[in-house]
Amino acid sequence: METFKSIPEFYGCLVFNDRVMKERLPKDVYKAVQSTAKQGVHLQLEVANTVATVMKNWALENGATHYTHWFQPMTGLTAEKHDSFITPLEDGSVIMEFSGKELIKGESDASSFPSGGIRSTYEARGYTAWDPSSPAFIKDGTLYIPTAFCSYRGQALDKKTPLLRSMDAISNSAVRLLHLLGKTDVTRVNVTLGAEQEYFLIDKELYKDRKDLVMCGRTLIGAPAPKGQEMEDHYFGVLKPKVAGFMKELDNELWKLGVPSKTKHNEVAPAQHELAPVFENANIAVDHNQLTMEIMKKVADKFGYACLLHEKPFAGINGSGKHDNWSISTDKGENLLNPGKTPGENTQFLIFLMAVIAAVDDYADFLRLSVATPGNDHRLGANEAPPAIISVFVGDELDAVLKAIEKGEHYIGADKQKISWAGILPHITIDTTDRNRTSPFAFTGNKFEFRAPGSALSVAQPNIVLNTAVAEELDKIYEVLKDVPADKLDKEIYKLLQNLLKEHKKVIFNGDGYTEEWVVEAEKRGLHNYKSTPEAIPHIIDEKNIELMEKHNVLSSEELHAKYEIFLENYSKVIHIEALTMQEMVRKDVTAGIVLYMKDVTNEALKKKQLLPNLNCNYEENIITTLDETENAMFEMLAKLTEDTKKAEGIKDVLEAAKFYHDTVLADMDELRKSVDKAEAIIPNSYLPYPTYGELLFSL
Ligand code: ADP
Ligand code: MG
Repeated sequence: METFKSIPEFYGCLVFNDRVMKERLPKDVYKAVQSTAKQGVHLQLEVANTVATVMKNWALENGATHYTHWFQPMTGLTAEKHDSFITPLEDGSVIMEFSGKELIKGESDASSFPSGGIRSTYEARGYTAWDPSSPAFIKDGTLYIPTAFCSYRGQALDKKTPLLRSMDAISNSAVRLLHLLGKTDVTRVNVTLGAEQEYFLIDKELYKDRKDLVMCGRTLIGAPAPKGQEMEDHYFGVLKPKVAGFMKELDNELWKLGVPSKTKHNEVAPAQHELAPVFENANIAVDHNQLTMEIMKKVADKFGYACLLHEKPFAGINGSGKHDNWSISTDKGENLLNPGKTPGENTQFLIFLMAVIAAVDDYADFLRLSVATPGNDHRLGANEAPPAIISVFVGDELDAVLKAIEKGEHYIGADKQKISWAGILPHITIDTTDRNRTSPFAFTGNKFEFRAPGSALSVAQPNIVLNTAVAEELDKIYEVLKDVPADKLDKEIYKLLQNLLKEHKKVIFNGDGYTEEWVVEAEKRGLHNYKSTPEAIPHIIDEKNIELMEKHNVLSSEELHAKYEIFLENYSKVIHIEALTMQEMVRKDVTAGIVLYMKDVTNEALKKKQLLPNLNCNYEENIITTLDETENAMFEMLAKLTEDTKKAEGIKDVLEAAKFYHDTVLADMDELRKSVDKAEAIIPNSYLPYPTYGELLFSL
């Protein structure tokens, strides 16, 4: 790094990006790769061979010895297997080789990746295929080639394949509609995505002493610290020097990989932080978000931190989300969700806006389940994150625009207000939309922000649903308008907007999403409120959702059924691990602490009485009595949890199992936690075999 003078010089230095390709590839080859990446034109083997050689030489120059097909299986993580470039020669030496075939296709054993029953064991083969639309990069001496992953029979076993398909779907639908509206020069509409990433940093040594953090990524027990986030002193607070050092190195590492990290700050909870990148093409943004999460952990480790990406590492204080900032723009650079100065007259904007609103309304259940994970269940609806009810916030000005349209009135735009403060300060115009942190799906000026995704989620997931749902609504709009004569188009569009509003206004909500009134009101409006993963996931195989995905060639019914299995199974596995971890911690660690402390206090009291028989030992007696009571309650609950976990293990049906884990096992864990936390609050830290919340959260 030190050899670089400036950021523009080292930014993307480990990426085989467009600039490198332009520089190094023969013109015709460069063009061919471009048309594959941008228009999906089939790539010829000769082209692949040339690219592979150039890519390999570039990689070797930059210190790489291996290459890997990097993919994103259904675990939501990334996967890689490294092959070196060496080819041994007969004379005992080696040359470094990499062919076009090796670049475009990889073969790997798919049998240990979740497939939801798609892949039978005798067909263990899986394939990876180069995704030329996301640039290859070098990390730790290996050339990483972004790839899609599918089964022997071509079913998607990953998150990239359906994402790319959904991006094609929305592009096709949007382009067709734009042509109808007169924008005939548009050939592609791109999804843009900026994924804000929240995370916690805690001391690594303390982390290692917490079995729950190590095994589950979240604390399963722990009494609240005397101080939480109530002072609101952490949000945007001064960065501590060491944390600032971590963030600086993180930026550098990401910039080298061409990840456009832009914003960094402290978040609401103690020890919580956020990173936001500049938005990119959705496919690249998803890859970059996966990289960001990985690099965060790596850099944290170097600084003696553990980076927690779990949605709810600590009870009682805010969890972490991943805001999915989403928009669509044409290949000519026009953001289709930009309202312009006069949104009331911007018909094209209003059509696309209404398509998104209709999509969120019609597929709210699908969007909700796309972010359903065991970790995120602790977050949604917990007064820190949006509720599990999916609604859309449009802000005051757009609300007024839409109301006027619905009534058939002409919208007279309010003059943009200026805020003027002390004389020397610049006067600024206020935005047309205020921020509404309580809405799960908020219009934020020229994009939507889906706030429900949890911090650890692959952001591909909600985008697959959103892209496809919007494609569907754009198609419906196209059907209404396609045969309308040009001179009647404006009138028909107006009518269409009115109809769309009537049908979908129930999903628009500009108020406070954290209130109990909203829950009641939403129910009256007929909006879904799926509070947990086992409640949400089954809707992935609802007929309407299968129809949507099949119609747009994004996911087949078989692939959706596979996801149903994978998600529910994953839920049960996660809770199972949590239940076992908690049992072990309570049985061994907490008990040891209680027993030891009770013994010492009892001995202390006995000695006191021996010395001076008239002394009263109220304090000691009280401690012993309380701990004894808690201990009894604890053991009773521990026995129940152990028994119920065993019962859960015996349930064969994936949905029944997931429900049992949620309704019974998780409920047992909550109950058990109460007595454990009560005991912990009494025992001095020196008797506890693990660090407390206070130590974990305020250690840096
Ligand atoms: P805010 O802080 O109000 O959420 P920012 O302007 O900081 O808004 O943007 C937050 C995220 O949204 C950033 O990652 C940014 O790159 C992204 N973003 C901005 N414009 C778009 C867009 N047109 N499409 C997708 N994401 C966008
Ligand atoms: Mg934001």
